[in-house]
Amino acid sequence: MTNQVLTLANGETISYLLERRLRRTVGLKITQEGLVVHAPKRIFEFQLNQILQEKSNWILNKLKAREANQVEKIQWADGDHLLYLGNDIQLNVTQSKTNKAAKLEQNTLKLACLQPNNHALISRKVIQWYKKQAALDFGRRLEILATKLGVTTPPLTLSNAQSRWGSCNSHGNVRLSWRLLQAPPHIINYVICHELAHLKQMNHSAKFYAVLENLFPNYKVVEKELKALSPHLHRI
Ligand SMILES: [Zn+2]
Repeated sequence: MTNQVLTLANGETISYLLERRLRRTVGLKITQEGLVVHAPKRIFEFQLNQILQEKSNWILNKLKAREANQVEKIQWADGDHLLYLGNDIQLNVTQSKTNKAAKLEQNTLKLACLQPNNHALISRKVIQWYKKQAALDFGRRLEILATKLGVTTPPLTLSNAQSRWGSCNSHGNVRLSWRLLQAPPHIINYVICHELAHLKQMNHSAKFYAVLENLFPNYKVVEKELKALSPHLHRI
């Protein structure tokens, strides 16, 4: 693979990775690294250039979409931006003689620790904070929404799941991923309502969705919102 630069008619440049392969056509791919071009071994540079110029609108649109979708990784350092109940909060790390538990003050998550540059320690402390808040917050919501549905509040377990936000087993135990605490309250409520509806219907039948709709009328819209938000909730 080689690094190349494509210069468009308007002077704009697009850098890309070129890989020559045994193939007949030119293939374009947008990856994490950006544009990757797979070209036949025998193609002339001017021919390749012409093809890329013709496809430049497609390339620019794809690159723009990729940029919009990219979620910034957490550095686990002072100044990091985090999500809490759908709000942006900022991590403030300071040095102290002992490691203290993280504490939220307005929109700042304050963390005082022995080694303010220890990313593993910071990540552990922040996740500890999320889990503690999640247990309190989800517990309260579960109680309120269970009452609304007319069932006894089921036992709650926090999970570490990356892909499933919630689940409910045949014993009526509800599991929720602590990562969900990053989402806005109405999305958390929706996930809880979904799991609670399973206490009445242990399936995803039409009857189940009727129970869910009664408890949370807007569920279809919020389900989509959650899907769109998921990459952001997976940052941690
Ligand atoms: Zn379900």
